[in-house]
Amino acid sequence: MDLNYTAEEQAFAAEVRAWVRANLPAETRHAVEHHKRLRKEQYVDWQRRLADHGWGAPSWPTQFGGPGWTPVQKHIFDEVLSEEHAPQPLPFGLNMIGPVIMAFGSKAQQDHYLPRILTQEDWWCQGFSEPGSGSDLASLRSKAVLDGDQWVINGQKTWTTLAQHANIIFVLARTDFQAKPQKGISMFLVDMALPGVTVRPIITVDGEHEVNEVFFDDVRIPKDCIVGEPGQGWTYAKFLLSHERTGIARIGRSKAELRRLKHIAATETVDGVPLIDTSGFREKVAGLEIELMALELTNLRMLAAEKHGQAPGAEANMLKIKGSEIQQTLTELMMEAVGPYALPFDPQAREQGWNGEPIGPDYAAPLAPDYFNYRKVTIYGGSNEIQRNILAKAHLGL
Ligand SMILES: Cc1cc2nc3c(=O)[nH]c(=O)nc-3n(C[C@H](O)[C@H](O)[C@H](O)COP(=O)(O)OP(=O)(O)OC[C@H]3O[C@@H](n4cnc5c(N)ncnc54)[C@H](O)[C@@H]3O)c2cc1C
Repeated sequence: MDLNYTAEEQAFAAEVRAWVRANLPAETRHAVEHHKRLRKEQYVDWQRRLADHGWGAPSWPTQFGGPGWTPVQKHIFDEVLSEEHAPQPLPFGLNMIGPVIMAFGSKAQQDHYLPRILTQEDWWCQGFSEPGSGSDLASLRSKAVLDGDQWVINGQKTWTTLAQHANIIFVLARTDFQAKPQKGISMFLVDMALPGVTVRPIITVDGEHEVNEVFFDDVRIPKDCIVGEPGQGWTYAKFLLSHERTGIARIGRSKAELRRLKHIAATETVDGVPLIDTSGFREKVAGLEIELMALELTNLRMLAAEKHGQAPGAEANMLKIKGSEIQQTLTELMMEAVGPYALPFDPQAREQGWNGEPIGPDYAAPLAPDYFNYRKVTIYGGSNEIQRNILAKAHLGL
């Protein structure tokens, strides 16, 4: 089996790299490379540059503005962007609600929303989880009641990522109170500027404001802001989550982080010996690299199946589990590599333009905030325990 890229694929990688080098603003590149917090306008600016070049939505079909790439090209694109320290594309529009609107939305919704996702004119957020309804999402209590030609939404969402930047949210709410829990749920597209929508920050253990609570108090939306049919929200949510889970494996980023880990381990020494040359640490790095290679091949397998019209199956759950575990192990090994220099924990070190005096090497400053931040990856997108349950039930018949 030849795992090398063909000459055409190598030429494609070179083309992407050259374009990214010419078009990624130096300040944004520096911020991503040094694990700084990105500003909203930096995300939007980068997405617009990609969209202007026709590369705004690598996974979308050409009819909706996708570039028509092969699975391998998409993988190469993701990898080169990570290597070149470009911002990770935000998944909420591109990989979550976008595919749902394509598959189940009305023509009017497709015409209105899809171009705005491409250029990030709309910043979407995901209103699924509620207090007490995370893993057990079907127990959600937010409700939507039809009143004339408007739906009236009441309820609370939580852990809503980057809702502080969003102008629009896709929401699961109960519309049928008699049906089985999964049958009574519908999906809505809600303008966050409407009266009755309130966003409150949640500050997480790493000191970041990444997630929020979102409250809906008698929020009135037009009748046609429902996606597809009433009561089918659970089906659309499952479709959406299978796309979300594949996207969050973040293989390209982990490969870039592995290189960073090796650089740190080659710089740090133990009794004058580079850490990477000590057998204990070397074995850990090698073990992780093997896991990452296996994950990459699983990803390519899934992308190839998708090309033939198959929805992601067990691979989506596997990618979520292994991808998130690898991301966490990377942050743990980096902490281990710098030893005591990982102890100072200063979330301000992630601010662009921060000019505090780092304790130890420059690369050590963001490692503790990153380590804490990455505790989230085995929880969001459906926790890893839930992924294992799905694998056991749906794919192994247990
Ligand atoms: C950083 C972050 C960002 C997020 N962003 C969003 C977002 O933008 N939009 C959104 O809607 N949601 C978001 N979420 C919510 C996320 O989807 C939920 O946190 C997740 O589904 C788990 O739900 P929960 O937090 O209610 O935990 P619970 O469901 O209460 O689970 C608690 C623990 O019990 C385990 N558990 C629960 N049930 C079972 C079971 N049946 N078998 C085995 N173990 C089980 C879980 O694995 C977990 O370890 C985000 C979460 C985080 C941490």
